[in-house]
Amino acid sequence: MDNVRTLGARKNIALVAHDHKKRDMINWVEYNKAALARHELIATGTTGRLIEDQLDRPVKKLLSGPLGGDQQIGSMIAEGKIDALIFFWDPMEAQPHDPDIKALLRVAVTWNIPFACDRATADFLLTSPLMYSSYDCIIPDYSAYIKRSV
Ligand code: PGA
Repeated sequence: MDNVRTLGARKNIALVAHDHKKRDMINWVEYNKAALARHELIATGTTGRLIEDQLDRPVKKLLSGPLGGDQQIGSMIAEGKIDALIFFWDPMEAQPHDPDIKALLRVAVTWNIPFACDRATADFLLTSPLMYSSYDCIIPDYSAYIKRSV
């Protein structure tokens, strides 16, 4: 049977932007400043510092993405500590931490969390009424996998 994780009205939103997408991220957070004030923000190191400077509000900053920040966010998703992910990854440039990026996208799907990888989708996500009320997020049933034997 599927389990449910109830997300509160105030969400924990993780934000990551690759270098050529950081301007997009700054513009997006500024445009959505009022909506984002209703949530907690967590980000990879550099993205977090830029958002903090732009919005003049605290952001929980993890390590820089290539230094393990993406993996830290993935780990928080697996632990149920992240409710949504805004991930502006760069489709035009290979990154030194490409495996981490793939892993982060995979773990977001594994745990059925809402995530956006471009500004339009991020706008749709942030304007959803579900972002401002509690929501029962279904956690896929992995019990058979966990209990498997040789
Ligand atoms: P950064 O990391 O916010 O520290 O630049 C983002 C990334 O490249 O994953």
